[in-house]
Order: sequence, then structure tokens, then C-alpha cells
Amino acid sequence: MKTRLGPDGLHIFDRRTGLNVLFNEVQVEESKWSSAPRQVSLALTNLCDLHCAYCYAPKHRAMLSADAIADWLIEIDQAGSLGVGFGGGEPTLHAQFAEICSHAAKKTKLAVTLTTHGHRLRAPLLDKLNGNVHFIRVSVDGVRETYENNRGRPYASLLARLRDARAQAQLGINIVINDQTVDELDELSELAHEIDASEILLLPQRATSSVGAASDAVGRKMSHWVAGYNGRVRLAISEESSGGLMTCDPLPLEKALRSYVHVTASGVVKVNSYATDGVNIGAEGLLAAIHQLGML
Ligand code: SF4
Repeated sequence: MKTRLGPDGLHIFDRRTGLNVLFNEVQVEESKWSSAPRQVSLALTNLCDLHCAYCYAPKHRAMLSADAIADWLIEIDQAGSLGVGFGGGEPTLHAQFAEICSHAAKKTKLAVTLTTHGHRLRAPLLDKLNGNVHFIRVSVDGVRETYENNRGRPYASLLARLRDARAQAQLGINIVINDQTVDELDELSELAHEIDASEILLLPQRATSSVGAASDAVGRKMSHWVAGYNGRVRLAISEESSGGLMTCDPLPLEKALRSYVHVTASGVVKVNSYATDGVNIGAEGLLAAIHQLGML
């Protein structure tokens, strides 16, 4: 269990089960609020072995150093962060990926989340991750041919990887919402239930140099589907894409840099992965760079 103090009260979190308990009747004076964001996302590398048209990850070569990551994780853990999310690019392509996860799990109390296309989640990598990753998010953009057209990999192989991943950690599925996937949300939610996923994260497609953003019609279909959803797997959506949806925010006062920052594979900290501005993380460390980001 880890404790975090903030404007919403006393927050207790268990990384093994994902249980969150908020004592919002506890008033915490500002000087005692945890100084690090609740969640920090790190793009370990820009490398990826897939070529999705809607990928918005930067295409220049960049990779974070495992030593720098180790120092940053200690910093944010001690300053009250609850979790770190490793993404990319494809994070499993980082040469020291398993060691980075092991360090995060063993030397800190952070919950370790991984966002991946899933196709590299096989032994021996999965064995090395055992106990060192608490939540795995796998991109599942459609079923069968839709998935194969979007991701260029066999759907059957994805299903096998999802089941193997679930045997190691809690699982979530991430769905890019576009005019193909929006009509498959029922099947995708059935899949999520069948593989015992804990969360479905809806990601309306963003414009890239190859594709446009999800249209208004797609957005309306998604909202309609969400309104009628009665599945058991919880739904989630990013704050930027949640307009018009009825969402629940249990920590309404813990906003912006208090809740989240993203670190690019080039070592720049930003308010999110789409932001154009950021601050280079220097020798003073990640918290100093976050503080500087707050002054911009
Ligand atoms: S798997 Fe992810 S990082 Fe790789 S190309 Fe597709 S969207 Fe981009």
C-alpha cells in the first residue's frame, strides 16, 4: 500500500490489486501535498516494429537511458507518485526493458504499467516481467480483419498474446476509435470480458500525416455506445477526449501537473504526449524539470 497526500484528501493505493481508497474527509494542508505527479508516463524508445497509419509517436530515433530512468523513478516514488507507465514507440524494444521494469518494481513502490502492441509478450520476456509489471495495456484496434488491416499482424496471434499477458498481470485493452473500430465496440467489449480484462480505454483517433482525426459522426457513435454500455469491464477515456461524455473524476482537485506528466524518449517532460512544448530533463533530475514546466 502506498499513501499520497493531495488537495482531494488522503489517497491509499495498492499496486498489486489496483485498489484505490480516498479519504476525502481528510483535509491536507498544501505544504504536505505530494510534490510529484500522481502518474508519470515514460516513452522508453521511439522504435517500433509495426507501422500503424494513425501512429503519432515521433519517428526520430531516441531511447531513454536506463540509468537516468532508475534515478527518476526513485525521485518520483519518494515524492509521492503512485505509478509509472512505460510506453513508446514499442517499450519492449528498449534493450534494457526487463531490467527497467525489475528496478521499478523492486526499488520503488510505484505501480508499473506497460502500454504495448503485445506481439512481443512471449517467453522468455514474459517470464522476466513476472511480478515486475502490475498492469499491461494492449492495443486492440478492432477484431479480425479490421485489426489485421490496422496493425498488420495476425489477430489469432494477438489473442494468444493477450491470454499469456493476463496470466502475468492485470490487463487492459486500448482501442483507437475510428470509422472501422467504432462499429466493433460490442465485440471488443465481449473480448475484454472473455480475457478477464479490467479496463477498456477508448482513444478517439488523432490526425497524423496519414489519417484524419475521428470524425464527428464517429464521436457520436462512440458516445451513443458508451451511453448504452452495460458490460462489467470498466470504461476509461482521456480527459482531452471526454467532452460530452458522463465521466467520473474521483480526484477533481488534483489536476494538470499534479496528476500527470509525460516524458519523451528524448528526455523532455511535457504535460501530455501531444504537447509541443516541454522542458529538457537535466542533471537536477525529473522533479526539477517538472517544476520548470509548471512555470512555462
Ligand atoms: S504499435 Fe503503437 S508505436 Fe508502433 S506504430 Fe503502431 S501505434 Fe505506433
